[in-house]
Amino acid sequence: MTDDKADSCPETIAAAFGVASDPAFGAVAPPLYLSTTYEFAGFEQPRAYDYGRAGNPTRDLLAEAIAKLEGGAGAVITASGMAAVDLLVSRLPAGAQVVAPHDCYGGTIRLLKARAELGQIGLRLVDQADAGAFASALRERPRLVLVETPSNPLMRIVDIRSICTMAHEVQAEVAVDNTFLSPAIQQPLALGADYVIHSTTKYLNGHSDVIGGAVVAADAVQVEALRHWANVVGSTGAPFDAWLTLRGLRTLFPRMEWQQANAMAVAHYLESHAAVAKVHYPGLPSHAGHAVASRQQRGFGAMLSFELVGGIEAVKCFIAAVGCFTLAESLGGVESLVAHPATMTHADMGAEARALAGISDNLLRLSVGIEAEQDLIVGLGQGLAACGG
Ligand SMILES: *Cc1c(COP(=O)(O)O)cnc(C)c1O
Repeated sequence: MTDDKADSCPETIAAAFGVASDPAFGAVAPPLYLSTTYEFAGFEQPRAYDYGRAGNPTRDLLAEAIAKLEGGAGAVITASGMAAVDLLVSRLPAGAQVVAPHDCYGGTIRLLKARAELGQIGLRLVDQADAGAFASALRERPRLVLVETPSNPLMRIVDIRSICTMAHEVQAEVAVDNTFLSPAIQQPLALGADYVIHSTTKYLNGHSDVIGGAVVAADAVQVEALRHWANVVGSTGAPFDAWLTLRGLRTLFPRMEWQQANAMAVAHYLESHAAVAKVHYPGLPSHAGHAVASRQQRGFGAMLSFELVGGIEAVKCFIAAVGCFTLAESLGGVESLVAHPATMTHADMGAEARALAGISDNLLRLSVGIEAEQDLIVGLGQGLAACGG
């Protein structure tokens, strides 16, 4: 299904791609097709769709919208962000080398390590901001380089263009997980990446009520190969999930703009507070990745983390007293969340690996939502006051 918004500005694609394109009844909101199977027009006359695992009109509309927003040739919608990562990894030839960031999403590390332990891939985890370490990882001739920027939970920034240039010199493909920013803020394909991965669970859906993923490819041949593979392994997403995610996508741009304005205000507030030792937000000039982020992003996103002056006791007091922020994992929804990486999102890593990655016990991560800035500041202030600030 295509429509007249196909060549519009990104904001228009998000708001209106597929709107009023229903040939049957002129429905303004795109219809939800739940049917698993499709009638043939006649003997040996299949239509555009035959079976729901292979293709679904609702899912394809979402795929096309996300592909356009990322500037790709097409996309495959998967049942989760992890299924999106695995769509790329599981079709590598046996023993292929994969390079991933040492501080990438915990679920991604778990998946890569599991596949490496089964002998299916070789794995090198490196600090991609360290050009020397990255160059040495490339000497092992990887097939695939995974990138995450900003990283979780310290918001480290990696220069996508320079990673792609170096990787392409050794014929490695580059996939950027763009979950933390969304195409409203960062478009990795324009910076040279071959693939973009999303957990659409986060900003693209934006309402914390769907688990989903997407892989966008720059090249049409790769889109076809990925679509084929998603059908082979059966990892395509459900139509209702696609429909909800498309509805969430409608407001992506205003949500991101509002959320990152709130995040900037929160970052400034935290930076000036006596109970806070350090704020990790790429929008602050004090952040090591500020210059690169300013160059490759159209804003600084709505994820940040900060360290309390006190230790784990201060963390407990903060969490008990904080207002407006709900203690929960995940991110990217309209509601503000606070997480304690050491005991929640990054608990599996173990204390030693956390220390190496710079994830201290007094670190808290915020996903800043669309509430009123004033309420967010008041809520944080309550938490900080309780931990002796
Ligand atoms: C959440 C997340 C994933 C995994 O996505 P799911 O939808 O939870 O499977 C992958 N990468 C990043 C950066 C994430 O935040």
